[in-house]
Amino acid sequence: MIDARAYIAKSATASFEKTEISRRAVGPLDVLIDIKFVGICHSDIHTVRNEWGDAHYPIVPGHEITGVVSGIGASVTRYQVGDRVGVGCFVDSCGECNACRTGQEQYCTEGVIETYNSVGRDGDWTLGGYSTKIVVTEHFVVRIPDGLALDIAAPLLCAGITMYSPLVYWKAGPEKNLAIVGLGGVGHVGVQIAHAMGADVTVLSQSRGKEADSRRFGASSFYATSNPDTFARLRGKFDLIINTVSADIDINTYLELLAINGTLVLVGLPEKPVEIQVFELAANRRSIAGSMVGGIVQTQEMLDYCARHGIHADVQVVDAGQVEDIYEKIIANDVRYRYVIDCGTI
Ligand code: NAP
Ligand code: ZN
Repeated sequence: MIDARAYIAKSATASFEKTEISRRAVGPLDVLIDIKFVGICHSDIHTVRNEWGDAHYPIVPGHEITGVVSGIGASVTRYQVGDRVGVGCFVDSCGECNACRTGQEQYCTEGVIETYNSVGRDGDWTLGGYSTKIVVTEHFVVRIPDGLALDIAAPLLCAGITMYSPLVYWKAGPEKNLAIVGLGGVGHVGVQIAHAMGADVTVLSQSRGKEADSRRFGASSFYATSNPDTFARLRGKFDLIINTVSADIDINTYLELLAINGTLVLVGLPEKPVEIQVFELAANRRSIAGSMVGGIVQTQEMLDYCARHGIHADVQVVDAGQVEDIYEKIIANDVRYRYVIDCGTI
């Protein structure tokens, strides 16, 4: 076993505690990573506070991990000690189902094993990246391209792939009129990627406060959803809308903004079921869909794409001891645009 330090949550209401944890010994196909940075994704908060009802305590959150390889198993071929690597939202899958064989491990029919709050193959609950070390099978490790620093790369492991995958699947490009709802951690990376793909990007945000940033990230238009005129003006305009908001918003008002055959993709994950007005779907043969991160090959492709196009997260690096305060800031929407923990402070 390998000793590591971590920040752990013991219940939905308890404060984080600094503690010692054990990582499994490095097996033949395993990579030992010294974690340098971990992004604070809103999913960490949903999970730790049990907003999705699936929390198993204690939890060490964190699935936007970057670090340096410090050990490898005897059969590892793709990584060497000293390599800069990342780990995203999942660390194992069955490897045999159709989803796994086609590089869509996140949709593994046996159930993908997430980086934290999942039962691993060894029967132990997985512990995530608010930690100093992690051991991961090499298949689930990706390489951080040279052009990307480890702090600004970390959020790409979840936020980046969460947007890249649907943008590829729904063919964002010059002929696509695209809107992204919510300029948070996921949204701000999504705007940059969609712009690089050549799409005409509109940001729909609650107020005008993030307009200048949206344009800096590559959006050509910006509308405040608090303005009642916005929805009337944009009716039927978009081929594709990606909603990153998990708060309780009326999805039907966004369906109305879709053109004929348009698709609304939900990546924000609300606590409660949403109500769909079927007439809004039928009216313009619209579709509503969801999307969950992306497979390992696609995650590597996304990282390489971001490095080539100068895309990264706008981050604020914080000490691990600040995590409680940071959660409150994120909940209060006081984040520009991703907090990243310096794991050297754990
Ligand atoms: P975040 O940084 O907190 O951003 C969420 C954004 O939603 C905010 O910046 C804000 O944008 C908007 N928002 C917040 N409260 C709102 C409200 N009451 N009404 C309307 N808009 C509101 O969160 P994130 O890390 O980007 O994650 C967003 C969601 O995606 C979370 O539910 C997370 O769990 C989920 N997620 C899903 C996947 C996936 O694979 N499907 C992966 C990662 C995360 P404006 O200020 O611009 O309005
Ligand atoms: Zn995440």
